[in-house]
Amino acid sequence: MMLSRRGLFVSQGPGLGRRLAHALALGLVLAPGLELGGPAFAQTPESAPATAAKKTAARPAKEDPRIEKLKTEALADVEQMRALTQQIVDSVFSFGELGYQEVETSRYLTGLLEKHGFTIQRGVAGMPTAWVARWGSGKPVIALGSDIDGIPQASQKPGVAYRDPIVAGAPGHGEGHNSGQAVNIVAAIAVKKLMERDKLPGTLILWPGVAEELVGGKAYLIRDGLFKDVDVCLFTHVGSNLNVSWGAASGTGLVSVEYNFEGQSAHSAGAPWRGRSALDAVELMDIGWNFRREHLRPQHRSHYVIRSGGDQPNVVPTNASVWYYFRETQYDRIKELWELGDTMANAAAAMSGTKLARTRVLGSAWPRHFNKVIAETVHTNIQRIGLPKWDDADQQMAKAVQRELKVEERGLAVELAKLGEPVKDEDNRGGGSDDIGDVSWVVPTVTLNYPSNIPNLPGHSWWDAIAMATPIAHKGAHAGAQTVALTLVDLLTKPAVLESAWTYFRDVQTKDLKYTPLIRSQDTPAIELNTEIMGKYRPEMQKFYYDPSRYKTYLEQLGITYPTIKPGATSAAPAAK
Ligand SMILES: [Zn+2]
Repeated sequence: MMLSRRGLFVSQGPGLGRRLAHALALGLVLAPGLELGGPAFAQTPESAPATAAKKTAARPAKEDPRIEKLKTEALADVEQMRALTQQIVDSVFSFGELGYQEVETSRYLTGLLEKHGFTIQRGVAGMPTAWVARWGSGKPVIALGSDIDGIPQASQKPGVAYRDPIVAGAPGHGEGHNSGQAVNIVAAIAVKKLMERDKLPGTLILWPGVAEELVGGKAYLIRDGLFKDVDVCLFTHVGSNLNVSWGAASGTGLVSVEYNFEGQSAHSAGAPWRGRSALDAVELMDIGWNFRREHLRPQHRSHYVIRSGGDQPNVVPTNASVWYYFRETQYDRIKELWELGDTMANAAAAMSGTKLARTRVLGSAWPRHFNKVIAETVHTNIQRIGLPKWDDADQQMAKAVQRELKVEERGLAVELAKLGEPVKDEDNRGGGSDDIGDVSWVVPTVTLNYPSNIPNLPGHSWWDAIAMATPIAHKGAHAGAQTVALTLVDLLTKPAVLESAWTYFRDVQTKDLKYTPLIRSQDTPAIELNTEIMGKYRPEMQKFYYDPSRYKTYLEQLGITYPTIKPGATSAAPAAK
């Protein structure tokens, strides 16, 4: 029994033999006091996770000198690339592209990666703006991902603490997805140099979260096989602290479904009885859902928009559609909500004498579950890096925004968050979703949040864009890059960490629950979304693309004094209680 489990482990995960050879090649196994030769490495998968994890966390001080040297060098290199970090953050901010339309962003990022020796595959998984950048060979294969898309109507001048769009009505980085690729790319370039120099085996894969705001991309990357041979996925996401968590994360998973109804057109006044309104079906479905909403679990979230409700009032609408997000904290419950939605849609069609023509999945996300061992490894590095040193201007900026929002003026985080622990379902109060959830169920994954934004913002709005091309974002991304670089060194030099991560993944996380995609075989990425909005605003936005060859920063290019605070706004108001 034990042997067969072990056999399974070896054949599906990073091979034990391969890892041992890899460790021997590095000359690491015989190093005294090193984890590799210690009990964690020798343990059977059955008993490994807790113990190995404990050791990882408990022994940061006793780092092997060779590994410590690599880490110091990686940090020095990330430090030298501060300007590059800032340029990537500012450039992607200036592109401000919406999901599936990240054309400039992807061109810029892949160009940069190509220049640094990565091999690029473009247009992956049926998404023109998705790509995969690879470098290196052999195991371990480490995937670094981060989202790249923006938010509708979030165009905002950075460093200005009140509403002042760059292009009125245009999209912008009202979530901060302009910063994560800077974190990953800079860390990858630094570690790649060390791998080249020391001939460390391993493969680095960089990839973008396309259309994350539509939770539209990652399930397709999985279906396309991107993570097939990946040993670990490090995902980075903007936050307001430098932190990581393991186990079930707070928040939800979701399925995003469009219901299309077909009616009969007729003159709305001349012969309304001859018509059947598709809009009626939409409205009836929404009424039904809103009544039922009261009797759904508090963890659930659901919302909809009507994107098509007919052409003009005197023509009975032939076509109408409504787009729902069904969110829950567990996969089964997401499916239940979806079935309930289908029931409502069919009932609404019956009531209105219309037809439910087709449903389309526009996005999906599994609830997130992060890997314990990888999270502990990252957390050890977080403690080494600490939070950025904010200066007065940064704190003034943050407090001015918080003041405008009428929330507590506590400024930027100055204390590191604790390692996040699993959230029990009864304590999960619902909330947002991220399709990194899907990835977390196919390969050991963590999301590193790095402090590029101001605490306590509303999310998905121009408020969230204010800090995202200022020193706050730059310093936060730098701290993120440092943390990822250190973690990459760990993953490349400590096979035991990967071994234990897979043990946790197999024997704990996925023991009773296996990944089944929410996307159906007939679903394809909704790449036509946002075409019109970008078509409308791109020409005007192009005038404001950041040109690092002429300006040191985007703030400089826009001629913005940092921070710009509303005239007459008083500072240092007593903190709200
Ligand atoms: Zn996000």
